[in-house]
Amino acid sequence: MQRQTPQRKAIEAAFHSAARPLSPQEILDAARKDVPALNLATVYRTLKRMVDDREIHPVELPGEAARYELQSAAEYHHHHFRCGKCRAVFDLKGCVNGLKKLLPSGFRMTGHDIILYGLCKTCRT
Ligand SMILES: [Zn+2]
Ligand SMILES: [Zn+2]
Repeated sequence: MQRQTPQRKAIEAAFHSAARPLSPQEILDAARKDVPALNLATVYRTLKRMVDDREIHPVELPGEAARYELQSAAEYHHHHFRCGKCRAVFDLKGCVNGLKKLLPSGFRMTGHDIILYGLCKTCRT
């Protein structure tokens, strides 16, 4: 059993209540409700440890700083939606069929990544 600091507990709670990929700043804002003295350097340090422990997984979007999601979410094949206004990233359920039809003749697909861009429900209104 590894030692759980209050900081790490607060960061874990932030992931569980958000249920979507979070940036270090979003994690800081959420976890500060439990640990007001938390700072961004501690968040980064804790995130690194949590990645090493395979508890969270980085979510890379082209040209952006990494966000993180729980390993339990990362293990399911899914894609992401990024809001262009609040810049929040959300999980999408499901996938699309027919990607192989896009391949030039003779090509073999080994994977795919899909990111949808737009406005989230809150920002749309
Ligand atoms: Zn938004
Ligand atoms: Zn997919």
